[in-house]
Amino acid sequence: MPMTEVQTEQSSPAVQRYPEREIGRAGDASMGTTLVVLGGVHGNERAGLIAGQRVLDQLHSDRYAHISGRLIVLAGNLAALNHEDPETRYIDHDLNRLCKREHFSEPASTSAEHEQMFELFGSLESIHASCKQAGQQMIVLDLHTTSAPSKPVVAFEDSLPARVHAMRMPCPKYLGIEEETNGLVIDAVTARLGCISYLVEGGQHDDPASIDVHEAAIWIALDTAGVVELSRHPKDHFAYMRSKSQDRGHVVYDVRHREPITSEDFRICAGVEAGTPVHARKTKIAMQAGKPVYSPIHGRIFLPNMQTHKRINDDGFFIVRRVSSGWVNLSAWLRSVGWVHKLIGIMPGVYHSEDSSLLVDADLACVLRRQVFHLFGYRLERHDGREGGTGIMRVVNGTKAFFKALFRGPIRGKDGKGPDPEDHRFWIVRRRKLDR
Ligand SMILES: [Zn+2]
Repeated sequence: MPMTEVQTEQSSPAVQRYPEREIGRAGDASMGTTLVVLGGVHGNERAGLIAGQRVLDQLHSDRYAHISGRLIVLAGNLAALNHEDPETRYIDHDLNRLCKREHFSEPASTSAEHEQMFELFGSLESIHASCKQAGQQMIVLDLHTTSAPSKPVVAFEDSLPARVHAMRMPCPKYLGIEEETNGLVIDAVTARLGCISYLVEGGQHDDPASIDVHEAAIWIALDTAGVVELSRHPKDHFAYMRSKSQDRGHVVYDVRHREPITSEDFRICAGVEAGTPVHARKTKIAMQAGKPVYSPIHGRIFLPNMQTHKRINDDGFFIVRRVSSGWVNLSAWLRSVGWVHKLIGIMPGVYHSEDSSLLVDADLACVLRRQVFHLFGYRLERHDGREGGTGIMRVVNGTKAFFKALFRGPIRGKDGKGPDPEDHRFWIVRRRKLDR
């Protein structure tokens, strides 16, 4: 498990080396929830690890002689963190896109990041086992920073249990990032271990304030998990986070689009930054291979890629849309009502799959749009990104698709049961694991 690379004379003295995955721990598993903080999942993002060390130092002081749980800080991508070029995000693959089910069945020797993924999840699994043995919960907080200047944000898979923790972070919330970016570490944590997990973007990579933001995020997460009581803490971390978010901590966004990079000369246009409003097919967001990249939908820019090194299929930018607090509350209610899900299951155009997901006729699904699925707590596992039209055309398309599905009757797949999951006439949706 420990990284073999040691500090050499050639390495920059300013950049810290991480010989071990575990940075440190404080507290006791049997006393309450264990919060696992991840930093450096991207090798050029060290702020979370520095913040984690700061919090551990304070937890080891007399003031915190008795805490109701445990904090463990782990480094994410040791191979990239210890690379001689401190700007290295990853060696072969982005670790925060690699953690998909199919890659867990490949050998660790496949790539540097496969090895990192297996080691990281080995550590997480053994911590999780110790929590289970103690009859306690494990929660994972993954700390990141951004290439572009940005305010702190929290992103998570929108399940009701995750909301309890992530929504308490006084910074804007982003739902649904896991649908557009497969292979996130937090997503694999929830899928494989069944743990609540969320991600905080603390600000720009080299901004010292990003470390303060991450420190505040860790304290707030510890308070929410009941490990420490922040009301007795000398610094008001809630107020600090609120001020860094410019009092937009109550705002919730839904991630609607991801633009992948298709050419390494991808460059965000001047004047476009995190939060910039964009209009469908009108706003020029980036230049790539000599051509402009327009937003396919309207919304706001999230995580514009301004990394020094860009690679094909990295995230270029995301488009997000704001959702109201009424929507958030309504969706919490709808998810808790059992008959709503029974009703959805018998709607025309909706078919059950053996693995508890639903196959929804794409003509109908694109009219319903992802916000309707999100409202009811369904995650889009596969969609073709098509739009169902706007205004009256959407109503017409929806009515046509509904009656087509109603009169079509049952569909038999290869095994004679329901439609084949490989049939791309359907979108695949599934209730979120922690809501089921
Ligand atoms: Zn990152």
